[in-house]
Amino acid sequence: MRQAGPSGEDIGRFPGSYYADTCDAPVAAAQLHGDVITDFCVIGGGFTGLGAALALARMGRSVRLVEMGPIGWGASGRNGGQIHVGWEQSQTWFEKKLGHDTAQALWRMALAARAHLDTLFDLAPDRCDFRPGLVFADHRPGHMAATHAHVRNMREVYGYGSLTPLSRDALRGMLDTAAYHGGSFDALGGHCHPLKLALAMARAAQAAGAMLHAHTPCTHLEPDRAGWRVTTPHGVIHAGQVLDASGAYARAMVPQTDAHVLPVNSYIATTEPLDPALAASLIEGGAAVSDARFVPYYFRLTPDHRLLFGGGESYGYRMPRDIAAFVRPHLARVFPQLAHVPISHAWGGSLAITPNRLPFVMQPQPGLHAVNGFSGVGVVMAPWLGQAVGRAMAGEANAAHDLVRRMPHPRFPGGPWLRWPTQALAMSFMALRDRL
Ligand SMILES: Cc1cc2nc3c(=O)[nH]c(=O)nc-3n(C[C@H](O)[C@H](O)[C@H](O)COP(=O)(O)OP(=O)(O)OC[C@H]3O[C@@H](n4cnc5c(N)ncnc54)[C@H](O)[C@@H]3O)c2cc1C
Repeated sequence: MRQAGPSGEDIGRFPGSYYADTCDAPVAAAQLHGDVITDFCVIGGGFTGLGAALALARMGRSVRLVEMGPIGWGASGRNGGQIHVGWEQSQTWFEKKLGHDTAQALWRMALAARAHLDTLFDLAPDRCDFRPGLVFADHRPGHMAATHAHVRNMREVYGYGSLTPLSRDALRGMLDTAAYHGGSFDALGGHCHPLKLALAMARAAQAAGAMLHAHTPCTHLEPDRAGWRVTTPHGVIHAGQVLDASGAYARAMVPQTDAHVLPVNSYIATTEPLDPALAASLIEGGAAVSDARFVPYYFRLTPDHRLLFGGGESYGYRMPRDIAAFVRPHLARVFPQLAHVPISHAWGGSLAITPNRLPFVMQPQPGLHAVNGFSGVGVVMAPWLGQAVGRAMAGEANAAHDLVRRMPHPRFPGGPWLRWPTQALAMSFMALRDRL
């Protein structure tokens, strides 16, 4: 039977993505039935929640996780799989806003998060299809000076030798498109199969003793005598502490976080498998590619020689009826030679963005924690910050948790009714400027 979630999508099963079709069976995680007591309850079975549950279970703590769909149903199981090293703001931005020392600490954390991701890939025999290399491509010639200045700063101030500049010719040697004018290459970036990653994290958490409950939405959350009462359709969890890790799919569960996140829908299509030589010619070396648009295009090849292309966005929870037709013009803009290529899968997902595009860690009430707002860099950052918050909840001193908690986390302007339309309008305008 179809069960509709807050986005109107079927939460009974994964969306019809390339990822769902190229993965093992979903993680066996029984729906919760009855009343149970636990030290920690995590709401949300994406990278953030799984990172926290895995860390807590490995510390020997009793932890239960509830997920309204199958484990990995949200953004974590459907994203572009692009591995960005760093935060969504540049190090120069941090230097100006937070000072040199904090900027350095944040960069060290970004590297720690990237190293942590490698340990998660090790959980799966196929390393979640990880491939190294990320190209950042400038779609306007005027952007190149800033990109190359960024590369210089990262190399000289942060000693980050993995990042190199790409001239127009170097970039054109790597990508068979005239859509870009130069950019940069990060050898420590890359791409992976995000649903395989979420499932590997879930299985590791179960093996360490975490109890995961799929198809178990939290419908109500309230304090009770022992901590928190997490109500689900067929059972209740009494938990000492709760972590809200519900991403863009959170609906007024923790009202204090509402003004800090805006859900944005992003769309992906995969082609039918291409001739291997044609596929290899599109992206020489098989790196991931992300561009400089306000709402970026992101693309890469899959191990079976498809082009996986992300482009186009919408606001609110309604998704286009024909997502393949929605993505195709964006794909054709970069690769006109593929304008009529058959598309095998097309899907969308919601990611949580914040006003400054940085994630936040909050403790709105005693024993209630919230982590959200990974914007477009959750593949690296969400599992890592999830585990950091899990450790901090268990009482471990954790510098990463403390620093992110101290970072500014502004609200979107406007009250509950005006916030979405005004922000959506502003973002649509910025995205439109990129298309002119
Ligand atoms: C199409 C798309 C492309 C993207 N591409 C990239 C990329 O290439 N690289 C990158 O780094 N990032 C990318 N992102 C962002 C990245 O996916 C997210 O930042 C990251 O997955 C966030 O993880 P999360 O655990 O916080 O949220 P989610 O993975 O969304 O997990 C939250 C979970 O909570 C569950 N939930 C919500 N409410 C409840 C409730 N009441 N009860 C129980 N469960 C609940 C949801 O079902 C969901 O599974 C992309 C996102 C999208 C949508």
